[in-house]
Amino acid sequence: MAFDEGSRSLNFLEEIITKDLQNGTAKSIVTRFPPEPNGYLHIGHAKSICLNFGLAKQFGGKCNLRFDDTNPAKEETEYVESIMNDVRWLGFEWARLCYASDYFDQFYKWAIDLIESGKAYVDDQSAEDIRRSRGTLTKPGENSPYRDRSAEENLDLFRRMTEGEFEEGSKVLRAKIDMSSSNLNMRDPVIYRILKRSHHRTGDKWCVYPMYDFAHGYEDAIEGVTHSVCTLEFQDHRPLYEWFIDNVDVPHVPHQYEFARLNLTYTMMSKRKLLELVASGIVSGWDDPRMPTICGFRRRGYTPASIRRFCKEIGVAKADSMVEVELLHHCLREELNKTAQRGMAVLRPLKVVLENWPDGFVDELDAENNPEDEKAGARKVRIGKEIYIEKDDFMEEPVKGFFRLAPDREVRLKYAYIIKCREVIKNENGDVIELRCSVDMESRGGDAPDGRKIKGTLHWAWAGEAVKAKVNLYGHLFTLKNMSDMEEGKDYKDYLDPSSLTVLENALVEPILAKAEPLEKFQFMRHGYFCADFGSTPEMPVFNLTVSLKDSWGRQNR
Ligand code: ATP
Ligand code: MG
Repeated sequence: MAFDEGSRSLNFLEEIITKDLQNGTAKSIVTRFPPEPNGYLHIGHAKSICLNFGLAKQFGGKCNLRFDDTNPAKEETEYVESIMNDVRWLGFEWARLCYASDYFDQFYKWAIDLIESGKAYVDDQSAEDIRRSRGTLTKPGENSPYRDRSAEENLDLFRRMTEGEFEEGSKVLRAKIDMSSSNLNMRDPVIYRILKRSHHRTGDKWCVYPMYDFAHGYEDAIEGVTHSVCTLEFQDHRPLYEWFIDNVDVPHVPHQYEFARLNLTYTMMSKRKLLELVASGIVSGWDDPRMPTICGFRRRGYTPASIRRFCKEIGVAKADSMVEVELLHHCLREELNKTAQRGMAVLRPLKVVLENWPDGFVDELDAENNPEDEKAGARKVRIGKEIYIEKDDFMEEPVKGFFRLAPDREVRLKYAYIIKCREVIKNENGDVIELRCSVDMESRGGDAPDGRKIKGTLHWAWAGEAVKAKVNLYGHLFTLKNMSDMEEGKDYKDYLDPSSLTVLENALVEPILAKAEPLEKFQFMRHGYFCADFGSTPEMPVFNLTVSLKDSWGRQNR
């Protein structure tokens, strides 16, 4: 299907921003993409990246990349670097590179301000007691016995927490809001906890660290963020976001807006679980081509433009929904169809000897590099007496509708000659291991001189120069269409698809494919799009399946 390039109506965020700029609520806009550096970015993050950087660009504003690194237990420099790399690869550049940890001193001052104004207190209850006394949706919470400590006592205790006097878990700082609020987030949330951990940037300077809800709005306030866009699950946190901003002196008042996160069929998007897949060796790494990570997609052969295109097509809404992964495939296929060099690769080879082919003769034929792109030009493909075709392109007893090779049947070899199967050779197990064919030497180029119709056209590889290659075929990592439909008591690992990776060690590819640079993309004719893997060499090429040729999404929606 061709996408509609025409005008579209504004999404709800574009409407808000347009209004804010018109009525002067904002002079110019500042957005941010705020990942926690506790894993690699996935396709859901790509939606947020395209949205935040896209809005800034569209309205002449700025977008920061901000590392929300307030939890030293899970964060690492490796993740920081991969995130910067992925954002740039997607085609975006940040106005400022920021770290929440740069503001630890300021957060600390604001915590002191809250204590001094009687709006925060040190609680000695255990995490368990705090959880228990929090109440439920139908039952109000109970005040902590430590809730009425004086500001002096709280200041003293918080200072001593900061100096490392107390053990992890023995004390926390809580905001003093309302234990009977109908919004559970407002029931005296924890704002600082003791963590005796080294931070990837501040080292051992701190042993208390702020909680996400406390820090996030302040990060936005410090950076002058005008439109702080987050996913829907934070909607109930918005009153808290505003409470923190309202109760200290901030240099700027940001506003939070929520949009629906991306859910994709057959795809799991949780950094924590993706990390488990990596750590347990279920996948080969964060960039395993089956992973929904940006680096996984890159290694799989996706382009930045196809991912941006996808993010544009899915749009931005205020209600959660499930997007078919086929739409993503479709966006990529549309692009690669126009840009990818064609080549012939036989994935499961079956030997064919052309009996009447003159011994020693090698012919050279013209082959278009890309019929969708005139500028792509042509190349020569060479053929001799011994070739290989795809095992699946032969059937000893052809079923109805099978128009490829069978005993006494003719097919066309792409760009080359018409052949006819004369003899089937089998091994002792009865497997077909070789075909003897006659070739119509008058049919050079593929057309029969007498005009007889040939239904099937096969790709092939000439034994004289085909290069052996390894090809990785990929399917969905999970068997479940909607990962939130997991049965009770089951976990995502119960839904791993054992056939998500098929390795073919003996594929044969034409010489121009063998020379591929890592990440170079091709169409293997009649199969799909493939890209050369890292470590691929002309002697031992390795290809990853990017996406097959079949376009189920495009067909349904045409
Ligand atoms: P995960 O649960 O996978 O760890 P997260 O939301 O905790 O994701 P963050 O590093 O906090 O990860 O995310 C950075 C930004 O990306 C946030 O603003 C978040 O809302 C956004 N984001 C994360 N997942 C998605 C998604 N599936 N769709 C859209 N935006 C997302
Ligand atoms: Mg998070």
